[in-house]
Amino acid sequence: MTRATLPIILTGDRPTGPLHLGHFVGSLRNRVAYQHDYRQFIMLADAQALTDNMEDTGKVHRNVLEVALDYLAVGIDPAISTILIQSQIPELAELTFYYLNLVTVARLERNPTVKEEIRLRGFERDIPAGFLTYPASQAADITAFKATLVPVGDDQVPMIEQTNEIVRKFNRLAQREILVEAKALVPALGRLPGIDGKAKMSKSLGNTINLGASADEIRAAVKQVYTDPLHLRVDDPGHLEGNVAFIYLDAFDPDQEGLAGLKERYVRGGVGDSLVKKRLEGVLQEMLAPVRARREAFAQDPGAVMQMLKDGTFKARDVAARTADEVRAALGLRYF
Ligand code: ATP
Ligand code: MG
Repeated sequence: MTRATLPIILTGDRPTGPLHLGHFVGSLRNRVAYQHDYRQFIMLADAQALTDNMEDTGKVHRNVLEVALDYLAVGIDPAISTILIQSQIPELAELTFYYLNLVTVARLERNPTVKEEIRLRGFERDIPAGFLTYPASQAADITAFKATLVPVGDDQVPMIEQTNEIVRKFNRLAQREILVEAKALVPALGRLPGIDGKAKMSKSLGNTINLGASADEIRAAVKQVYTDPLHLRVDDPGHLEGNVAFIYLDAFDPDQEGLAGLKERYVRGGVGDSLVKKRLEGVLQEMLAPVRARREAFAQDPGAVMQMLKDGTFKARDVAARTADEVRAALGLRYF
């Protein structure tokens, strides 16, 4: 089978800051694993990032390179995965413009992800129209590449559902199967909590361990990791629920058998948090050292990374332009 006939993945991130372990668990790990069996397009969603960052466009611009470095560092291979910059593909904006006529304001306001983000950002009614409508833009991104699989964290599942509604509506109007429905690929582990014990590791909450963290930053972060507040003395029985140190070990410890034994002893009493954290620090240092080394190596030549992004964007634009052509034709927007 040639790569051109493989099923397609569309995925990506808003370049608003460095990627962290939450992103790794939420989708990066799947992207690295799936890139061989899928044709994968990874989008740096800079235009989408502007929907709530118009006051700081410099941040978005700078983070395009930073996030690209994170991708390369975790093992996304640009020879088989295509990394692209959203804003440089005008067909994506064009598709968004058409799809906006296939969703209602009421439906956008009901989208649980949008609802939650409006609440978090305190927008209320003063929400930028571009932010409210970003599910249509996400639908454009996914459908432009005819992706059938989208590796995302569980908070993004409503986006895929809304995309599929748009696909079905469009195809019904076109009376042809032009657009393709997609499935979310959600990791079994669910959401990774922050080092502070909050439900989600998130850059805006400042509770992250970044993929490019230095050895010292990792050490300092592990010290802060939330454990069991009732576990005061070593001999006290410990609790695993909500214990972030163990949640991270579940996610990253390669020796799950040894971990099971440690958990048993922790629950029984007799294992101090310092021992658990020592193990966690070892696991994270070992996991992130090669990531950091690769990141530093790629960062030596930012020109080469930007060229890789340019090549990827050109390649991706070809694909998106073909879909936009079909969409225009189906909408009667072909005149010459
Ligand atoms: P922001 O603070 O700007 O919202 P963030 O750090 O929360 O940033 P997002 O850009 O919201 O990150 O997330 C991008 C993708 O990574 C989404 O698919 C999301 O589901 C996934 N993701 C982010 N944080 C986590 C997490 N802690 N656990 C699992 N997946 C996550
Ligand atoms: Mg977020």
